[in-house]
Amino acid sequence: MDVYFYTKLVFKDMAVLKISKNISFKQGTFSDTAIRRRMKNEPNEEQLKAMKKVAKKVFEPLRENFNEPIRVNSFFRSIALNKAIGGNRTSQHCTGEAMDIEATNEITNKKLYDYIKKNLDFDQLVWEFGTEKNPDWIHVSYKSPKENRNRVLRSVAEGNPVYQVVEAGKEVAEPEVVISKKKSRKGTVTVKTLLTVRKIPTKDSKAVGQLENGKKVKIISEEPGWYQIKSEKQSGWVSADHIKLKSTKSTLAPEL
Ligand SMILES: [Zn+2]
Repeated sequence: MDVYFYTKLVFKDMAVLKISKNISFKQGTFSDTAIRRRMKNEPNEEQLKAMKKVAKKVFEPLRENFNEPIRVNSFFRSIALNKAIGGNRTSQHCTGEAMDIEATNEITNKKLYDYIKKNLDFDQLVWEFGTEKNPDWIHVSYKSPKENRNRVLRSVAEGNPVYQVVEAGKEVAEPEVVISKKKSRKGTVTVKTLLTVRKIPTKDSKAVGQLENGKKVKIISEEPGWYQIKSEKQSGWVSADHIKLKSTKSTLAPEL
């Protein structure tokens, strides 16, 4: 078979391919940044296998229990994409083991979180930002019954580190270090007008301030596409696209 027809065949396959009953291949690999930067974001066989596992063991049981659509905000991220959005170390999104999900309709994110925590096996479960009552979204990962740590974390907007341990979970052979003592990095704001500082790392989060072009900031943590910064007067989250890093090796905690 020549390359042309082979490629066509693969693309045709991709279009109909499903990760699980309720997650399409397109949903599993969608990324704004990948589209904007024309980056390919496709899992290999092994990553696809991992995606299918977390979808089958966590997403589908949830979906079935609540019988409402659950939004998949971010699932697979290639290493290149993860780098492009600010993550320097390998996150479980890069192996296909993690997904970020959000409830729809009458269901709350807390209900999803509680259900996973109580009823399902998982590797890491993260209450992502939000309030005491409800997280903004949920990060959940799955490896295998043997490797799953059942570790529960919570990310907090003003936290340093961002991730706090709710339940340490099981010790496994080689626990992945997720909460590291971090040195801060430095960066410079590069923006035409003003850079909005937000309370949490989402586009629709409350604005807590603005930074001028050329302003020097200290970066204390990161999330995909976002940096948590501190300057003399301000602290909060800004789009990573508008911060030029002073080139040093990253010592930041990875995005989970
Ligand atoms: Zn995540």
